[in-house]
Formats: sequence, C-alpha cells, structure tokens
Amino acid sequence: MNADLHCHSIVSDGCLEPAAVVRRAHDNGVTLLSLTDHDELSGAAEAAREAATLGVRFVPGVEVSVSYQDVTVHVVGLGVDPENPALRANLEQVRAGREERAQRMADALARTGLGGTLSGARRFARNPAMIGRAHFARHLVASGVMPDVRTVFDHYLSHGKPGYIPHRWADLEEAVGWIRGAGGIAVMAHPARYCNRLSTTALDRLFDIFVAAGGEAIEVVAGAHSPEEAQRFATVARRRGLLASVGSDFHGEGESPVDIGRCNPLPPDLKPVWSRLI
Ligand code: AMP
Ligand code: MN
Ligand code: MN
Ligand code: MN
Repeated sequence: MNADLHCHSIVSDGCLEPAAVVRRAHDNGVTLLSLTDHDELSGAAEAAREAATLGVRFVPGVEVSVSYQDVTVHVVGLGVDPENPALRANLEQVRAGREERAQRMADALARTGLGGTLSGARRFARNPAMIGRAHFARHLVASGVMPDVRTVFDHYLSHGKPGYIPHRWADLEEAVGWIRGAGGIAVMAHPARYCNRLSTTALDRLFDIFVAAGGEAIEVVAGAHSPEEAQRFATVARRRGLLASVGSDFHGEGESPVDIGRCNPLPPDLKPVWSRLI
C-alpha cells in the first residue's frame, strides 16, 4: 500500500489542479490518495473522477485550520462526505476571515517597504476565498524579493515576523466534531510542527483535548517530519492507541520537502488509518 493522505491543490494553496495532483500521485505509485485542501472541499469531485479513471483509490479529505491557545494547529479529516451541509457551512465560516487578514498582511508588509503585495498574492490565489500566506510567499519569490518560499516565511510570514497577522481559526473540539459529523476520521496533522510553539506539556494537553473530542489518528510520517520526529510520534500513537497516518503535505514542485507518494513507510506495528478507510 502506497498511501498519501495529505496534499493540496490550487483549490487552496497547492500549485496543481486537483486532477493533476491525482495524476502526479498515480505517476509516483500512490494507490490510496486523499486530497486535503485547507478549509475547502471543492476539489474533491474532480479529484475523485480522475482517480477513478486512473484506478487510484480516493478518499475525500480536508485540512481544517484550528486555533489552540494562540497557536495554529491543523486537523485533517479523512473520509468526510464532501456534500455534508454542516461541514460545508462551517468551513465557509473558517474561510470567511481570510480576505480581511490578507489586507492586514499586505498593510504590515507595506510598512516594511514591500508594497502591492495584496494584488500580487491574488494572482496566485485561484480561489479568492482561500488567499493565504503561501500566495503572498509565491508573489514575493516571483517578484525577486526572496529566493524561495521557505525564505519568505523565515523572514516575513512565520509567527512573530513582520508580515505575520494573528488570526482566530476554528475551535479544536468543534473542528473534530464537524469531521466526525461528516463521517470522517480526525487526524492530528504534522504534530512536530507545533513543538516550537508548544511545550511538551502543552502538546500533551492538545492531544488530551483532541482525543476527548473524538480525534482518532495522528500523522506519524509527514512531509515536515524528520525520521526522529516520526519515531517520537509513533510512540505517541502507541501510547494513546491512535491510528497512524502518512502524508507528504505536497503543495507543488520545488516547494515541498517530500513529493507526493514519496513518504517513508509507517513503523509496521502501528495500526494504519486506512484500516478504517478501505
Ligand atoms: P495560512 O493558512 O494562510 O496561514 O498558510 C499556511 C500555509 O503556509 C501552510 O499550509 C503551508 O502551505 C505554508 N507554510 C507555513 N509555514 C511555512 C514555511 N515555514 N515554509 C513554507 N511554507 C509554509
Ligand atoms: Mn498549505
Ligand atoms: Mn498543515
Ligand atoms: Mn497541509
């Protein structure tokens, strides 16, 4: 089984059309794929059609933006019904703040001497409701201000940098509830990414709340995880009896550390989340 259960299309902040994401996954040997755009389900139908054509097993998914204390945390929902009215309405609410946030980001960047970034970012955001930091980053790379997206985040867009605007996303328990309500499995995405903002105790507490709310899985192997981090979160999966997931978090060529379908395998003793998906 070559499963990749976390990636993005142009419907949120990925670079490829949903069908092109599926083709790339197929070319790279993926047999089970989930497209997990941020706060958005509108790529699912196209991706499912292409997957059926190519014989790739497809699971509709989403990556919900959540605020835990003042830290942004991502919860992936796998196997959700993309037509579920409550999930769709709630994701629309999560998306609603992005436009104003983008304006404030542009204002903040202008104060550092970078003008015109809102119109620049818009050119990279196919879905205007999903304008986000990656679109600003691509604009600043394309305009020659910075050499690559990662450097833009390091200098301007990561927490505490001059273009960073704090934002209130969904509540953790609510997001898990929406996913479950739509028939999905809630997965804690790339947990190692929260370690620089959360102490070990706070991260433990995050998992307590996630599990109490009905969260059932954790990304152990993730594009953002080193092998050591994968081991650390394999231990968390074992201790808490969580299902284990695998996802590249692919956004586009040259932007993502791991290509779609190129993740390491899960430690064999863990129970894979796809045991519940197929
Ligand atoms: P947003 O939802 O608008 O806050 O943007 C979050 C997205 O920005 C993530 O899903 C990634 O695609 C991207 N991102 C966040 N941090 C980094 C980073 N350090 N380097 C590259 N991309 C990043
Ligand atoms: Mn993203
Ligand atoms: Mn994420
Ligand atoms: Mn992601």
